[in-house]
Amino acid sequence: MNKSDCLCRVCSSTISDIFDFGNMPIANNLIPVINDTYTKNEYKYNMKIGVCINCSSLQIVNVPEKELMFNNQYAYFASQSEFMKSHFEKLGNKVMQLMDKEKDYILEIGSNDGIFLKYFADKQYKHLGVDASENVVETAKKNGVNALCSFFDEETSIEINNKYGKAKIIVITNTMHHIENCQEVAKGINNILAEDGTLIIEDPYLLDMYKIGSIEQVYAEHNFIWSLHSYKTLFEKHSIKLFDVEHFDTHGGSMRYYFSKQNLNKTSTMQEYINLELNNKIFDINTFIKFQENCINISKELYNFVVSKSKEGKIIAGYGATAKSATTLNYSNIDKNLISCIYDSTPFKIGKYTPGTHIEIKDAKLFTKDSPDYTILFAWNHKKEIIEKEKNNKSKTIWVEYIPKLKLTYEN
Ligand SMILES: [Zn+2]
Repeated sequence: MNKSDCLCRVCSSTISDIFDFGNMPIANNLIPVINDTYTKNEYKYNMKIGVCINCSSLQIVNVPEKELMFNNQYAYFASQSEFMKSHFEKLGNKVMQLMDKEKDYILEIGSNDGIFLKYFADKQYKHLGVDASENVVETAKKNGVNALCSFFDEETSIEINNKYGKAKIIVITNTMHHIENCQEVAKGINNILAEDGTLIIEDPYLLDMYKIGSIEQVYAEHNFIWSLHSYKTLFEKHSIKLFDVEHFDTHGGSMRYYFSKQNLNKTSTMQEYINLELNNKIFDINTFIKFQENCINISKELYNFVVSKSKEGKIIAGYGATAKSATTLNYSNIDKNLISCIYDSTPFKIGKYTPGTHIEIKDAKLFTKDSPDYTILFAWNHKKEIIEKEKNNKSKTIWVEYIPKLKLTYEN
């Protein structure tokens, strides 16, 4: 076991063992045009991850400046996914039951383009969204959502408290794992969460990541992969207690956590997952080492496949220019020389190039006409949605999945 000089940002213990990915670009920084200036100046950093065996949190040990990651070029618009829309609608209905429409307001941290808060705006619930990326905040405002462009920290929480008072509900979906200074966020939440309020957090779940054995949840913007134990460690320091959880298959496995300042009874589901984490040895360094080995094998397998098919003269494309695929492509050394293009339906991404590997992103509408011999399904968490859509379009290709193992599907 290698000890590092890095201290855990959750509990201040020394981080054990380090998995070095080499130089990586910022996963969401798509390139608008390929020329010498861009290629020479493209920002890369040495990405390393480690695990804290004291609190079980997995974290990036050297996070790039946050302004390099969350800016007005931020590429992820949550509203693009129909599946996520319905997922959030269900959460919205649940949360509304907990609110008094006259008195209470809901605060969302990392409100993106307003996909979630729009339900509250439409039904005239008091709400406020906070997000650090200007372009998504502007989109949210256009959708009628009350939103503020800022990084959420203690200072922002004081400003919000002065203007709106304490929040009955605080929701953070797919954002907490983006935030390096988790202590500052927890302090801010402690400031602004009502005594009888509920904090709801949802993000990728460590145990799922270990089980799938995929490196894809790890990239600069994902500073942490959380577990029940690591979240408990963080929030208990700030007098906020976990009392319930719900598990979902979204994004390759997510957990939704419910916290309160009150001493509520812990649910049996929470206890079940606490035990599951212990039984799966999340505090054992060997679990992390096994995960590393698996990631290396997946990358090698995918690289060898692409190289061999490329030598046969086959056209290999990708589907879904996801941030996740940036880690796989860069770590596996699969670039524009091996992959013809990646198809995507997000207007913001079409015509741009993938970070580090410079693969062109083409409109998914061209997929049927182009019919690549093999298509690597990078947006594997939307597999059903994509394969069904392309089947209806009568597209012809052999789908390539690589998680948890390389698998070819002759759908058409
Ligand atoms: Zn720790």
